[in-house]
Amino acid sequence: MAELIERLRSICGPEHVSDALADRMCYRRDCGPTPGGVPGYIVRPESTDEIVALVKLANEVGKPLFLWGRATTFVDAGVKEGCIVLALDLMNRILKIDVENQVVITEPGAIWHAVDSELGKLGLEMTVPGGGGMFSCTVGGTVAFNAVPHGISEYGVTGNHVVALEVVLPDGAVIRTGSWANADAPFPIERGANGPDLAGLFIGACGTLGIITQVALRIRRIPECERFLFYAFDTIDQCVDAVAGIQHQNGATFLIGLFGGPPPTGVGGKAFLQIIIRDHEARAAERMQICRAVCESFAGRPQNSEGTRRYWTEHMYSWLRNTPPDAYYGSRPYYCPEVAGFVPTQALKQAIPLVQQYIANNAEFARVGMRVKGMDVYFSPNAAFLWVDTLYPEMDREAWRVGLRVRAEISELLFGRWMSPGGIVAGIAPYIMPRLGPTYELMKRLKAALDPRNILNPGVLGLGLPADSQLLEQSR
Ligand SMILES: Cc1cc2nc3c(=O)[nH]c(=O)nc-3n(C[C@H](O)[C@H](O)[C@H](O)COP(=O)(O)OP(=O)(O)OC[C@H]3O[C@@H](n4cnc5c(N)ncnc54)[C@H](O)[C@@H]3O)c2cc1C
Repeated sequence: MAELIERLRSICGPEHVSDALADRMCYRRDCGPTPGGVPGYIVRPESTDEIVALVKLANEVGKPLFLWGRATTFVDAGVKEGCIVLALDLMNRILKIDVENQVVITEPGAIWHAVDSELGKLGLEMTVPGGGGMFSCTVGGTVAFNAVPHGISEYGVTGNHVVALEVVLPDGAVIRTGSWANADAPFPIERGANGPDLAGLFIGACGTLGIITQVALRIRRIPECERFLFYAFDTIDQCVDAVAGIQHQNGATFLIGLFGGPPPTGVGGKAFLQIIIRDHEARAAERMQICRAVCESFAGRPQNSEGTRRYWTEHMYSWLRNTPPDAYYGSRPYYCPEVAGFVPTQALKQAIPLVQQYIANNAEFARVGMRVKGMDVYFSPNAAFLWVDTLYPEMDREAWRVGLRVRAEISELLFGRWMSPGGIVAGIAPYIMPRLGPTYELMKRLKAALDPRNILNPGVLGLGLPADSQLLEQSR
């Protein structure tokens, strides 16, 4: 398509468009285990106007666009063969730090932690810290995915902290949400203004309904102090009961439970609880006391919390298990097809033993060298986000097949009883969307109304697929 590439170049400039195979191969997959198709073109716009022109062109020629933040998701993005990848990395500016109104406005390609670093120079931070991918993920991708962030026990999910969005719709119209929509008073100060919560339509939609081109997020002063606790328990039930007690009293900023995988170095027990508290000094002391009392009333044994502190301040997951990063991330190449989602806190007492039993009875684990990296839980204010992370040797084709089968079987096990996943993208869609019934039908109707030509991320969330196709078949 010689003409198409010329038109793409005329929109974004020749230096920001490529159809070279070497470039296209780099945009096939996210961090998930399954490569998508090889895209036909890579374009890297620098402005909302360029995105509008690209969307109009895609509609005209009937070529899908796939939106690319930094592709740090783990669940298979679903890039379509021959599509145009619209990479947002060049739109990475912080547009405004509005201290007075307590919001920061960024372009979608800004890296999450880079924004927090700039805010940090002013003693400020975003009101949600970002997830484990904060050093590489973008603000737009994280909002579109509605990532499960650190600090979720107090702060909730990423989307809760969005004040307003600018979005390019699949027909090229540019909208703003909430109070930002009023052309005569365009202040991004309140999401719940000017009618229904339209920002919510694009949060978690993974780019199927619109392209987020600006994000206004809440900011605040960095809390006065951070405190850390670490407890070991002899049973899963004791640990879960302790968490429920802390949740009921809003005792912690971040509760992380470790229920599987390697136990923390040098600590005995069956379940472990990492506790992080951020607050002013007096309230932090009270919350520490609540957490200690609750854990110890459920026979929790206090441990050295230096690993907890290092996890939180150095952002290395390995420290949750008292392990330095080099040991934890060694013995590559291993790959992680995770299954993750929200379950009621008390359901962990059944869900964790069930998954443990499934793994113990699955001879395939030993046959292809699979391991369990962790069964870790980020506790939200009222529930649990369980991550079942299995690892398989990435270079072994048979292990890859088993890894995907294990992901499917654990998904069926959990989604069928207790679990609803967070970010879905394409890989998990076949296991969850059919369970949503009329809600999935509504999503399809919204997709058809906003994007009748299926230009944006077709197949993601199982939306925009040809009418006669089976969701499961399409994603294979
Ligand atoms: C080391 C590591 C740790 C991680 N820890 C966590 C964690 O703790 N919690 C968690 O939830 N996730 C975690 N992740 C997954 C991932 O980092 C996050 O979900 C991340 O926020 C995705 O951002 P991204 O910019 O890479 O988005 P991408 O993966 O590029 O995009 C995600 C989805 O949004 C779409 N999209 C991208 N940009 C836009 C846009 N501007 N407008 C509309 N749609 C768009 C994409 O098409 C895709 O469907 C982790 C990843 C890594 C590598």
